[in-house]
Amino acid sequence: MARLAESYSPIVDSLTDRYGVPSGWPEFSDRFGELLLSALAPTADVRRARALLDALRDGGLLEVTAFATAKLDDVSAILKAVGLSGDSKRVVVSQRLARWASERGTFESWEDEPTTQLRDELVNLKGVGPSMADAILLVGLRRPVFPVSRASYRILVRHGWLDPFADYDEARETIEGLARDEPTTLLRLSAWFEIVGKDHCRATTAKCEHCPLRPFLPEGGPLGDSA
Ligand code: SF4
Repeated sequence: MARLAESYSPIVDSLTDRYGVPSGWPEFSDRFGELLLSALAPTADVRRARALLDALRDGGLLEVTAFATAKLDDVSAILKAVGLSGDSKRVVVSQRLARWASERGTFESWEDEPTTQLRDELVNLKGVGPSMADAILLVGLRRPVFPVSRASYRILVRHGWLDPFADYDEARETIEGLARDEPTTLLRLSAWFEIVGKDHCRATTAKCEHCPLRPFLPEGGPLGDSA
C-alpha cells in the first residue's frame, strides 16, 4: 500500500498552487460561539459565520443556557435570516451540544481534558457521529484531529493510501499522522479534501483529468470504489 507520508509535501504544494491556503474562520472572541458554529454552520464562510454570531447575540442566544432552551423555530429563523440552512436536525443537535457544554462547566476547565475524553463524550450525544465529533473538536475547539468525511475517505482509498476496508479511526489516524498536534494544518487538509471531493473526486465518478491530486495516483489510475 502506498504511503501518504511519502508524498505529503508535494501534495501540499499541489493543493496550495491550485486552491491557495484556506484561511478558515478567524478565532472569534466567543468560545461558545466558536463551538456552536462548528456544529450549527460548519460550512459557512467567514462573513456568514460572523453574521450568525452577531444575530445570535442580538437575539440573546449566544449564551449556553439560552441557546440550549431556545425554541427551534427561533434558531432556524436566525439561520435563514443570515442566508444559512435552518435545518432543524442540525439545530436540535446543536442544542444538545450546548447542554453538554453547560454541564461541563467553563471552557477554561476543559483545557487539560484529553481529546479522547471529549470525543467519547461527543459521540455519545444523540445525532453526533464520529465525523461530526471530530469536526467540533477541530473547528470548534482547535484540537489536532481530522474529521474524515466521505470525500476524504474516497480520496485516500482511490490513491491506495488507505485499505478500502479500513474503519473510521484508521482513516483518521492516516491523516492525523501527517500533522500531529497541528490543528491549523489539519484544518487546511480538511478544507482542501472537501474541495477536491466536490470538484473532482465525486462518489460516482473520479474526474481525475484536471485534479490537483492526479500526479499522486497509482499506476493504472484510481483504485477500487469506496463511495
Ligand atoms: S486524482 Fe482522481 S482519484 Fe485522485 S482525488 Fe482527484 S479525482 Fe479523486
